[in-house]
Amino acid sequence: MPVPLTDDLLLIYDALLAAFGHQHWWPAKTPFETMVGAILTQNVSWTNAARAVANLEDAGMLDPRLLASADTADIARLIVPSRYYNQKAERIREFARVYVAEFDADPAAMAAVEAGELRERLLAIRGFGKETVDTILLYACEKPIFVVDAYTRRIFSRYGLLPEGASYDQTQRLFAGNLEPDVALFNDYHAQIVRLGKTTCKRSPLCNRCPIREIHEGLACAGAQLLR
Ligand code: SF4
Repeated sequence: MPVPLTDDLLLIYDALLAAFGHQHWWPAKTPFETMVGAILTQNVSWTNAARAVANLEDAGMLDPRLLASADTADIARLIVPSRYYNQKAERIREFARVYVAEFDADPAAMAAVEAGELRERLLAIRGFGKETVDTILLYACEKPIFVVDAYTRRIFSRYGLLPEGASYDQTQRLFAGNLEPDVALFNDYHAQIVRLGKTTCKRSPLCNRCPIREIHEGLACAGAQLLR
């Protein structure tokens, strides 16, 4: 029988929280802004995505009904900082159309849909992958869904809690299968992982200053040991 990793995962989170403090995600004023931000941050840094969100806001376009009927070229012009802007403009417009048509542009109506069903409906939108959808589910709809990204896979495979090359689903199961569904915990845990990945567990990891390198004698990063 597999050993539950609940304690290890919680100790790792506690160490990250102690080192970095609460991350207070998602940095948005409304659920719809979070949804648009989740699309814009695909494959780019949050700094770039935030510039594109600000442009939409300054132009008065951060509005689902306006975006649903906008010309994609007009959206694209505003979101240039997020790169892949033509593709993202189409995704934003398509999402805005679904949001208006199926949920009347009401975040509460969207959040009222059962998590599994909502996930399937959002995954059906062209260009929407699991990371984008799960980000919307967790940060905009407050569903207890663990968001996985490249940092999560890198850190936890280096740590030895995931095999190298673990899939999105396999990585998500590590957390979902060992932690109680908890929106607040999942929210900040993912944010802590991003912080660690950006600052410390980089492509060339800075293990000597990593807050989870060795939590106690029985819980230490296997990757760090190899790098000694
Ligand atoms: S100890 Fe090194 S390899 Fe392990 S998680 Fe920290 S930075 Fe990454």
